[in-house]
Amino acid sequence: MREADVKYSADIRIYNKKRIIDILRFGSKTKKQIADELNVSIATASSLCNFLIKEGYLFSKSTKSSEGGRIPQEFELRADAGYSVSLNLVEKDIITLAVVNILGEIITQKHIQSSHCKSAEELISFSCDAVCGLLKEKDISETYLLGIGIAVSGNEMTDNHIIRNCVANPLINNQCIRKGMEAAFPEVPVYIDNEANEAVLVLYEKEKRLNPKVENAVYLYIGDGVGVGIVANGNLIRGSHGIGGEINHIQVGKRNYECYCGQRNCIETEISIEGFQRKFFEDMRMTHDLNRYGWDILEEAVKNRENTALSLMKENGTLIGYTISILSQIFDAQTYWIGGFDEFIFEQLYPYIMAELNKRSIFRDIFEYQVKFDKGFHDIITQGCYELVFRSWLPRS
Ligand SMILES: [Zn+2]
Repeated sequence: MREADVKYSADIRIYNKKRIIDILRFGSKTKKQIADELNVSIATASSLCNFLIKEGYLFSKSTKSSEGGRIPQEFELRADAGYSVSLNLVEKDIITLAVVNILGEIITQKHIQSSHCKSAEELISFSCDAVCGLLKEKDISETYLLGIGIAVSGNEMTDNHIIRNCVANPLINNQCIRKGMEAAFPEVPVYIDNEANEAVLVLYEKEKRLNPKVENAVYLYIGDGVGVGIVANGNLIRGSHGIGGEINHIQVGKRNYECYCGQRNCIETEISIEGFQRKFFEDMRMTHDLNRYGWDILEEAVKNRENTALSLMKENGTLIGYTISILSQIFDAQTYWIGGFDEFIFEQLYPYIMAELNKRSIFRDIFEYQVKFDKGFHDIITQGCYELVFRSWLPRS
């Protein structure tokens, strides 16, 4: 619920309760601090906090300062007030399943082999059983679930809920996975989104805590595919069909590679993990499968400062810089995050990314580009699933 959706006094109440819970996710606060952030009177903040205590969301604590004097009472969010389930279906043959508490802390996380599943139905049924098993193990009742957040490497279409554009996990491509999940958990809301969309939500929220003026962020996920997540003016960009911000098929590549979409020069064919390897082995006149081992060979060649590998860093760093420059001209974000592969490779690409960005910027006298590497992209998808759930969840009225 955003401010614009608040029409009635009951809505205002729920909206403010949600905002208090949201604020307290990042640490305890006094009545006065909460009132200031909500722009309400201390009495209103106090009354809302008391309701939230009764409903089991908060507790209050008053501590003594080191000098023995009383310091104001603080309110804290109860870690066991609610949980969300994160289901990461981005990778082929492996699901990552986690329980995250209302504070956004990962309580438990498991990577489970799913290669025996031969259809989307089998995968969802297997995932549902795994979710039930995990909840049982952690003794969490379904009634405490705020929702289930699912990450996919493609897009869930808005009208028919079919997953499209999902190359990394072909089993769920062109399939509806929502129906099966909702049937297994009829009382729990299910949210599905692209991994880059979920990642950008987490980093955007973190940045906003440090600087409340931050309203825009972009995340470029470079994995088996290429994904982009965009928060513009505080909103996640989804577009009319659920494919807003998808840039993996813009044709700015240089090597004339054919893409599975039928076009040539799609950016994904050149800067995805496979794209890097394809270029490298082509330049080395080598034949090798494009997989984890191929990536290791490339990384080793960069470490050994081999010319072919280094010129590839320049070529792809420039291409990534070019891509970010297009995104910057549309969205003007404070920070452009990159994640999905190794930090070591990012460090090699970084000077070329920045050189291209600065070359193409006409505002270099006004601001400097912030391009940062997301070190925690494995956990970030899990946290992103939770963030997706939390953004839509509302406390009881
Ligand atoms: Zn394409």
